[in-house]
Amino acid sequence: MNGFRGGYNVRLDGRPSRGVDVLAAPERLYLPLRSQTVAFTNVTVADHQVVLAGETLATAPGSFDIPLLAPLPGTVHLNATDGHIVLDTPPEDAMCRARPPEATGPMQDQLVARGAWEFLRDIHTGRVPSPLRTPQAAVVSTVQLEPFQTRGDVLLARDVPAFIRGLGLLHALMGEKPLFLAIPNAESEITELLQTTAREHPWITIVHVPLRYPAGDLRLLARRVGLRCDAALPVWGTGVAGVLAVDAALTHGKAATTRVVTLGGPGAPQPRHVEVHLGYPLEKLLPPATGPTTLRVLNGGALTGAQLDPGQCGIDNQCAGLTMVKEHESREFFGFLRAGSDRPSASRCFLSTLRRPTRHALTTALRGEHRACVACGHCESRCPAGIMPSLLHKCLWAGDEREAERLRLDLCVECGLCTYVCPAKINLQKQFGDAKENIRSRQCPAPRQIQ
Ligand code: SF4
Ligand code: SF4
Repeated sequence: MNGFRGGYNVRLDGRPSRGVDVLAAPERLYLPLRSQTVAFTNVTVADHQVVLAGETLATAPGSFDIPLLAPLPGTVHLNATDGHIVLDTPPEDAMCRARPPEATGPMQDQLVARGAWEFLRDIHTGRVPSPLRTPQAAVVSTVQLEPFQTRGDVLLARDVPAFIRGLGLLHALMGEKPLFLAIPNAESEITELLQTTAREHPWITIVHVPLRYPAGDLRLLARRVGLRCDAALPVWGTGVAGVLAVDAALTHGKAATTRVVTLGGPGAPQPRHVEVHLGYPLEKLLPPATGPTTLRVLNGGALTGAQLDPGQCGIDNQCAGLTMVKEHESREFFGFLRAGSDRPSASRCFLSTLRRPTRHALTTALRGEHRACVACGHCESRCPAGIMPSLLHKCLWAGDEREAERLRLDLCVECGLCTYVCPAKINLQKQFGDAKENIRSRQCPAPRQIQ
């Protein structure tokens, strides 16, 4: 088994503490019909229809018909907000306690019907796996090191017994195939408990990972334990939230209609974790747009999150974090005299090297214009995939995708670390993601799931 290579301890300001605030149900939910990889294009309810909590509002034909469920009872509005199903929910004391008919049948069907299936990923495609195919193995990562995505320990601390029960259900679900459980290479009560569980259940193999981003990445873990990922032999991957959703669905018959979301980043007025219903209004979670400081909000973590679509009004089904970063355009007074004194860097030529490690108040500033690659090698030494990002960049810049393929662009897990450490601030991650997509569509011209 190979060790974990590369990685970097990304230290950014705006990290919340471990507690989770459970927010009350709002009067109106805005359920996005599209998230990063899922499109709920088949709407199954009518305008003004009254629905029960857990009832299907729409399904995603491109993702094995996983449903978008009503998190609360209420009245549906289909045309109130573009790209969303709006649900007006009655006040809590008047809420209908009735539940939609219980899902029965095979465990896969129950998980799909209760919204828990969408927490699973086919590691090869990064998309929801087929419920009809048994995987060769599953990889569960309790380690989420990207600031500001919801950390595994935050979720685990809420209910370790449910997590352990969920592992057993997942094992039964995949026909008792091996399960690899990634835990941090650090001592804690929880890691001790998980190791004891693994000793009692030989089908669990513990994988220790260092506390260096992106060590908990599912694709890297699958490679590390020697699993070959291809379409014919799927490998399932999920995190703590997925295992808890499997347990809640199969043990308690509960639909997965809430999410724990991290509100973090240097621009977050009050970094914290919140548990909210799907569709919870973003305007209640984000600071008002007016004010002296403008914010850039990322849907996801600081390194892999995408800028939040300005048209999105509620929490989508894949959201695990909202990262807030201050827009920064002003010049620094005498900045040339204190180059890099206020931020840690992979480069040792910054003044911050002389200080004790600090957290960096990340902004959107590029601190100068776009620069060419200076061949510093930081991207290569940090890349966890063992490829050469600067060489790939040069090939793709020259339009030579075939050479990039030869240099194993396919091994890139799009963690964004090369972009983060690059002193020239070249957006390598985007360049690699776009090139991989081009190559995929050249090799497999079938229509994509999300158009
Ligand atoms: S985005 Fe790809 S190339 Fe860049 S560090 Fe991550 S795995 Fe390596
Ligand atoms: S980190 Fe940036 S500047 Fe340095 S070698 Fe890589 S691409 Fe070039």
